[in-house]
Amino acid sequence: MRRLRRCKIVATLGPACVDQQTMIDLYRAGADLFRINMSHCDHAAMRERVQMIRAVEKEVGRPIGILLDLQGPKLRIGEFAEGGVYLTKGAEFTLDLDPAPGNAERVRLPHPEILSALHPGNTLLVDDGKVRLHVIEVSHEKAKAVVDVPGQISNRKGVSLPDTEIPVSSMTEKDRADLDAGLNEGVDWVAVSFVQRPDDIAEVKKVARGRALVMAKIEKPQAINRLDEIMEISDSLMVARGDLGVEMPLEKVPGLQKRMTRMGRRFGKPVVVATQMLESMISAPVPTRAEVSDVATAVFEGADAVMLSAESASGQFPVEAVATMNRIAEEVEKDSVYRAVIEAQRGAAPDPTGADAIAMAARDVAETLELKAVCAWTFSGSTAFRLARERPEPPVLALTPNRATARRLSLVWGVHAVVTRDAHDIDDMAKRACKFSNREGFSQEGDRVIIVAGVPFGTPGATNMVRIAFAGAER
Ligand code: PEP
Repeated sequence: MRRLRRCKIVATLGPACVDQQTMIDLYRAGADLFRINMSHCDHAAMRERVQMIRAVEKEVGRPIGILLDLQGPKLRIGEFAEGGVYLTKGAEFTLDLDPAPGNAERVRLPHPEILSALHPGNTLLVDDGKVRLHVIEVSHEKAKAVVDVPGQISNRKGVSLPDTEIPVSSMTEKDRADLDAGLNEGVDWVAVSFVQRPDDIAEVKKVARGRALVMAKIEKPQAINRLDEIMEISDSLMVARGDLGVEMPLEKVPGLQKRMTRMGRRFGKPVVVATQMLESMISAPVPTRAEVSDVATAVFEGADAVMLSAESASGQFPVEAVATMNRIAEEVEKDSVYRAVIEAQRGAAPDPTGADAIAMAARDVAETLELKAVCAWTFSGSTAFRLARERPEPPVLALTPNRATARRLSLVWGVHAVVTRDAHDIDDMAKRACKFSNREGFSQEGDRVIIVAGVPFGTPGATNMVRIAFAGAER
């Protein structure tokens, strides 16, 4: 089965899609990669989902990626004697370490490291920013604040600190255990939540040791301040617009999304645009015009993937939401303006490496000669990542002996991966690339394709060859 679009679709799993048939339907409707959100999942449920995705993979005969999304340090207040209180504008309210139930004057914040990091003037947002306070006095035991935006706060609501750097790792004990469990199950990508600095990614990479690729969820202003460094060390970025829109003014999010999709293109690393893309489809079978336009904007920007959260995880119309995203992406990519926008975002020059220069040359040849596909033999996937960075007009067919690589590539713009044994010589490489190109529906007998590979075969990172070939198996 081949997609008729380059932009990929990530569908979050949840109670709306626990049975295997719904997951098959989600795949057939367009989901390329499934996200397991560890904020709402224990290890047993995670394992069950991984096994089900692997069964779906067998059923549909295509590699499917799994993204394990770690919860990260979600800060929460304690509980109230009355379940909650209404904070009025200008009132003073204290957060402290006292486990006694809260009232209209105070509540517990069971995070001493946070209290130590706060300074007078810092902002505190409670319950996704519905209530806003600013700190006026701090000690190691408590922080006194004044209410700027009034509202109800209740037991265990989340707290965000948009202008405080938290001196703790973005990986909690729960995340460590979830990461180990996910890696043991063979997940393909790991998303790190509430990243503040490059070290947060380095820590996860140290544990993953190449067993999964690592995605930085950009949802904090501290990460925006160090975006280049974080992109440098990560394998991918997620524009996590949910929390980003809480911690930063909402009107800044679209510009940041554009900055990140362009940055992904420059670095040759996939960028996922996430959250509230088709939000109204949680409870309605059709989206709003604005939602369609939002998904279309991400596709026009050249995002590698667009993501569904509650729409597929817990909504009433999970399959319809995926199918809607699929239709929008297909339509945008057929629009005559699309190629012009993608071309306009092309960077001045590739990185000065053999793989980048060859990827650029292959795109140039493929477009000049109007070839049907760019076929890449790749072990680690890196040749396919470099080709995707070029955003060639013909599709990229990645041929790999490595199943994990094929699954990882399910996130990458325009790449259709096939698992096959490695080529043993140059003729075999050309012949089988042509055979797969025909079999997967990219070309027909007599069409030409371009092949990119590294010789000698099986040497990671040795992309050094391009060849034009006829896609007729016996030529
Ligand atoms: C987000 O905040 O946009 C996001 C994707 O994170 P989560 O769904 O884990 O809150």
